[in-house]
Amino acid sequence: MVFTLPKLAYAFDALEPWIDSKTMEIHYGKHHQTYADKFNLALEKYPSFFKKSGEEILKNLNAVPEDIRIAVRNNGGGYVNHCFFWEILSPGQQKPSGKILVALNKNFGGYENFVKLFTEAALNQFGSGWAWLVIDNGKLEVLSTPNQDSPLSNGKIPLLCVDVWEHAYYLKYQNRRADYVNAFWNVINWKKVEEIYSKNV
Ligand code: MN
Repeated sequence: MVFTLPKLAYAFDALEPWIDSKTMEIHYGKHHQTYADKFNLALEKYPSFFKKSGEEILKNLNAVPEDIRIAVRNNGGGYVNHCFFWEILSPGQQKPSGKILVALNKNFGGYENFVKLFTEAALNQFGSGWAWLVIDNGKLEVLSTPNQDSPLSNGKIPLLCVDVWEHAYYLKYQNRRADYVNAFWNVINWKKVEEIYSKNV
């Protein structure tokens, strides 16, 4: 009963030219794998946690014994955040439509304004972290988290995220986080985002 990497629904090179194959290979095979390994290692001392999902564990970090709580927050967060990130990525340049588009328009005064707010959150996150679109008490919200912190730990439901750790973009974009975030809009699986949204409102 250990946490393993999900199988990707697309090839490493499927998100080219926006996210390059080499970055995907290392990001998934090395970075994500290391979070999974360290998450499993931390939980070995308290194996009853293997009966829960990673999401369930992050939703209630206070239930995690103090001696492994930071390791779980960081590596469990890294494990779960990347699982989610791979799911909301897709080749095919989708656009939001249906219920999620209506919700984006209603909550942010238009899709373009949502893009602006989300991009600002991604660029203003100092150092490593993530930008998110979440459901918070039925409303949509844009926020960022440092390190591998998950909005799940604050009772929020992730709908979309972008990894702004340098390991997510440095090979192709070097220090140009803005170019990477700009490219991200071409590889979003909006069908999946709408599916998650519909299940949770
Ligand atoms: Mn990452």
